[in-house]
Amino acid sequence: MSLRLFRASWVVPVSAPPLADGVVAVEDGRVAWLGPRGGLGMPDGVVTDLGTGVLTPGLVNAHCHLELSHLAGRLPREAGFVPWVEALVDERGREEPGRVRERATEAIRELETTGTVAVGDVSNALVHLDLLQASRLQAVVFYELLGWDPARSETILQAAEQRLAAHAAGVNGRVRVRLAAHAPHSVSARLLEALRERGGPASIHLAESAAETGFLADGGGEWAGFLARRGLGDVAFRPPAVSPVKYLESLGVLVPGLVAAHCVRADREDRALLARRGVHVALCPRSNRNLGAGLPSLPDLLADGVRLCLGTDSLASAESLDLLQDAALLHRAFPRIDPSVLVRMATAGGAAALGLADLGTLAPRQRAEMAFAAAPSRLSDPCSFLVSGEATLKPLAA
Ligand SMILES: [Zn+2]
Repeated sequence: MSLRLFRASWVVPVSAPPLADGVVAVEDGRVAWLGPRGGLGMPDGVVTDLGTGVLTPGLVNAHCHLELSHLAGRLPREAGFVPWVEALVDERGREEPGRVRERATEAIRELETTGTVAVGDVSNALVHLDLLQASRLQAVVFYELLGWDPARSETILQAAEQRLAAHAAGVNGRVRVRLAAHAPHSVSARLLEALRERGGPASIHLAESAAETGFLADGGGEWAGFLARRGLGDVAFRPPAVSPVKYLESLGVLVPGLVAAHCVRADREDRALLARRGVHVALCPRSNRNLGAGLPSLPDLLADGVRLCLGTDSLASAESLDLLQDAALLHRAFPRIDPSVLVRMATAGGAAALGLADLGTLAPRQRAEMAFAAAPSRLSDPCSFLVSGEATLKPLAA
């Protein structure tokens, strides 16, 4: 296959400093060379001049729920996290399956058209794997277990493993399915420990809401009310009286490679633990803002060496699946953080979290899954533009 060259006023490789007037050469779907136009070793080939704008690796959305896309605009957000969860639980099964798949298809399309090339997709139902397989996305599907009653943990896990085995045959290399857990306040310690015996959950929601931290502290508050209304008020539970992060540490669940979504409420000790254990934290700031959870302390997470990536969360809590808008919100909230850090989270950080080492950066032999954001005028700093809220990435067919 012949070599194709893509030239843009800026190339952001992520693994190296931005290149002004840069060129990326692609052969057989992989990056063959990159550098400044006319630079040493630039190969010959057909040149596509993208013009003024930024050429980047495709985005990696590390935390999303495609199967909840039909709930866009249908759940109350103003009342906060617990009423939102309650409405979600009530509403999610009401839509007819065809419509759920239709909206998931549209959501996949939205990811693709806004420059995302890989997704960490949380699923309880596993009814849209074929849609992911038919897409251009690389997907790690987190098959998420819920189970507050410890007496049911083995039953839940066995059923899940059977389901997983049944799916394994039909899943291609582009879609991988891994067992995951919902959250420390919705999954019993016994089920979490059983997952640990099998290598640990691949993802979990962690330290997201005040309801979660309060419930683990003293067993009361809004979450206790929620469990009681779901008929789970009598399940024996001794609150650990520690933070959600420390609770998972006590259960041995903070395993390397775990993708923990949110971590809005992580103190210094929590952050040190997350860093030490090799946990990847997927920040979903628009979802957090919309559900009144506040924003994660990005400067502290960075200072303490936590591995960070970005997710949109679902359309049930975020306005869109355009991951750059989450980067833009963090940029507005923390303007002193170098924009290149946010771009790295949206690309290489997510690729590391999902174990997709050949995505997320542009370097020789990396997969040439790229995106381009056109700019209205000359840019002095391409990363600032990417997180400005004005940039829209489009996939590049290489
Ligand atoms: Zn989520």
